[in-house]
Amino acid sequence: MRRRPVVSGPTVSAVSAGRHFSLEPLADGVWAAVHRAGGWAIGNAGIVDLGDATLVFDAGLTPEAGVELAAAARSLTGRPPTHLLLSHYHNDHLRGFQALPDAPLFASETTRGLVDTRGREELASDLEHGAARLAETKALEHDDDPVRRAFAGAFVPYWEALVATAPRIALRLPEVTFEGRMRFHGPRRSADFATLGAGHTPDDAVLILPDDGVVFCGDLLFVASHPYLADGDPEGWLRALETLKRLGAGRYLPGHGPVGTAADVDALSAHIGDLLAKAEDLHRQGVTAADLGDPLPEDASAAWDFAFPFYRANLRFVLRRLEG
Ligand SMILES: [Zn+2]
Repeated sequence: MRRRPVVSGPTVSAVSAGRHFSLEPLADGVWAAVHRAGGWAIGNAGIVDLGDATLVFDAGLTPEAGVELAAAARSLTGRPPTHLLLSHYHNDHLRGFQALPDAPLFASETTRGLVDTRGREELASDLEHGAARLAETKALEHDDDPVRRAFAGAFVPYWEALVATAPRIALRLPEVTFEGRMRFHGPRRSADFATLGAGHTPDDAVLILPDDGVVFCGDLLFVASHPYLADGDPEGWLRALETLKRLGAGRYLPGHGPVGTAADVDALSAHIGDLLAKAEDLHRQGVTAADLGDPLPEDASAAWDFAFPFYRANLRFVLRRLEG
């Protein structure tokens, strides 16, 4: 059983029943907002009370999730969010911030550029193809394969949320950018917002709370869920996981999945390492990305969510790189 810190101050009971997030205290004044199955957050978020300011780290996929997160922050800290922090440009971390226009949005300079380029492309794609993707995913709800049914169970709400909200998304660019690391100081604690470079995407930032032994990892950590490698740099990701491990935190909030520990950082690191080795093995045998077939993992990650479709997609991505 995982040790939980003793928490005083506002209780979470009043706000823990949200549709999009469930709230979990990680330390006194620090909360995880974990995507609730069937809701429209998809990505996890975090709330930090600095004592005179309230940080919100990531905001989920939809303005609806952002509204719920802002209400939770106000209820838990006694003030609305004052500083918004974006880990990376992906829609399921960014778009909830549209609903929080009164606070500035912080991100790395690289991530701001990615919102402006790939973020716009992603939004255009959602508008053009969202309905078709929803129909394709719905068709898997009654598939014979339980792995595909589980994927549909989680991703039908994702596509429903995108189809419903994409037409009213006005892409928000971060107003404040940094390179390397920036630190927020408050009377209760300080918080380091640091980019770890290319990993899950071309640039991923994390929020480190050194006094609390807590790190908000964005999508540099997936817990009990297959990662998505094809938008980033797997070797860089392994280096970032080493950095996260060296922080020696007690609790690591992933971008997807439940709150984790250092063991989950190790598990993801081992999985990505195994995947790179597997791809090299297949490449040596002459297997190409085009004729990969539909493999499922045989390691501990077989029990994680979404082996379909991400394991195959990740292997194909690495094989393509090996093929040059
Ligand atoms: Zn992501």
